[in-house]
Amino acid sequence: MESDNHDPKQCSDDHDHEHCLEMFKRLSEYLDNELDDITCKEIEAHVKECVPCFSCMQTLKRTVDLCKQAPDQPVPEYFSEKLKELVQNMPKTTNP
Ligand SMILES: [Zn+2]
Repeated sequence: MESDNHDPKQCSDDHDHEHCLEMFKRLSEYLDNELDDITCKEIEAHVKECVPCFSCMQTLKRTVDLCKQAPDQPVPEYFSEKLKELVQNMPKTTNP
């Protein structure tokens, strides 16, 4: 028996949060200008539409700026902790 294609969307957000995770992995490289133009544009386009990623990038930028001001300081440990926290606080999409 075939089910029809009636698929009530519970939320209008068709945003793929797995994509966010990919963005997060690249954000630090992005801020260090280690990425090519295409990837940079991809990230920029993403954060324009994705509030969690946007605020994450703002936080990252601040942290990176602080690190650059104090080159003797290693990147603080809470930095990656903070990222994990942000990912965990993201609304979860339905499990596969
Ligand atoms: Zn995102």
